[in-house]
Amino acid sequence: MNFISTRNTAPASNLSDAIAAGLAPDGGLYVPEKLPVGRNLEAGEDLAATTTALLAPFFESDALAPDLAAICREAFDFPVPLKPLATPGDHVLELFHGPTAAFKDIGARFLAACLARIRRGAAQPLTILVATSGDTGAAVAAAFHGQPGLRVVVLYPDGRVSPRQAHQLGCFGGNVIALRVAGSFDDCQALVKRALNDAQLQAQVPLSSANSISLGRLLPQMSYYAHAALAHRGATGRELNFVIPTGNLGNAMAAILARAQGVPVGRIVLATNANAVLPEYFAGADYAPRASVATLANAMDVGAPSNFERLRWLYAGDDAALRAAFTAIAVDDATIRATIKARWERHGEVFCPHTATAVHVLESLRAEGVDGDWAVAATAHPAKFESVVEPLVGHAVAVPPALADLLARPAHAEPLPPDYAALQARLLA
Ligand SMILES: *Cc1c(COP(=O)(O)O)cnc(C)c1O
Repeated sequence: MNFISTRNTAPASNLSDAIAAGLAPDGGLYVPEKLPVGRNLEAGEDLAATTTALLAPFFESDALAPDLAAICREAFDFPVPLKPLATPGDHVLELFHGPTAAFKDIGARFLAACLARIRRGAAQPLTILVATSGDTGAAVAAAFHGQPGLRVVVLYPDGRVSPRQAHQLGCFGGNVIALRVAGSFDDCQALVKRALNDAQLQAQVPLSSANSISLGRLLPQMSYYAHAALAHRGATGRELNFVIPTGNLGNAMAAILARAQGVPVGRIVLATNANAVLPEYFAGADYAPRASVATLANAMDVGAPSNFERLRWLYAGDDAALRAAFTAIAVDDATIRATIKARWERHGEVFCPHTATAVHVLESLRAEGVDGDWAVAATAHPAKFESVVEPLVGHAVAVPPALADLLARPAHAEPLPPDYAALQARLLA
């Protein structure tokens, strides 16, 4: 299959090249030239098997096609369980059993498995350059650590990520370099953007990114929705509906693409934090991207959701059809807090602040009388956001074993001034 740009002014690309490039050369996002629709899929014996079948048409005729099953086995080596909640018909799809305890592990591990194969035999290593405010950088560092032919350089704002997050970024060593920048996240992002647009630098140091617009992250995120929905239909005969915590719209876009191919997903409802660009759009306002505001669900602090361009492409720019297809609801910090506290007190359930936005949205849908079987996508383990969660539930939340392993290693980050010449020099060193 070939991939085209949402902006339609770049040449079609094969899958390997689209994954290696990240962004299309016209600044658009890569999308399949023709989405395979009306597919008659069955749940495989496990997530890797379901994913291999689901992704086969996207890999067809690409150099990676013979490796698809091996890539899926390598990337999906942890469970993604669908568990019932205390309230009947409600479930949680736990996406946080990977090495850094957030759903981004899944896309990052798949991307790393693809890139390691794409770059096999290349003369020079490929440097994955990432600016992070926490979760993305850790998932990318964990996924690329030890991959031959690849190295990761992560920039994060010194003192502005949680101590646990900083530790996760600095604990890998080897082919992962953590740079603590004396500046803000925006400074980090500006440095990374400049390097990714610097042809002279890239002639010496080949660079790529691993952000949420990457096709190599988007495609595998369809897998867990497909596997859970197909298994649920197999067991109950019923469709599963989803509420998805949303920032850049990468996770939700994957669910939407899976449904468009015939995966038995019912409604898809988006939950955002106080950054309400999407809820306002779906309620009828013009799409109005803007600067983000800080919230408790900080991995969703996005004012310009990058995958919105893919959603508009899927609906061929028909805003009325798009608005009719989805609901998006914004949840403020006070409600996030109240939800975490109440679910613990009433049901003994503990959620991270991101997952809590979706839990609240599901509660409001039920209060309106919405029926059927629903699942909330749980995007991070609550122990990752202990400073928010623990005071609300009144006890320490046990750290999952994979994350505990990372936190037990020594960590080291190099200081970097917020200065492009300094970054250049470090990349060339
Ligand atoms: C990144 C992230 C999100 C938002 O996902 P998008 O794909 O950007 O919509 C939600 N929750 C957590 C924990 C995340 O790390």
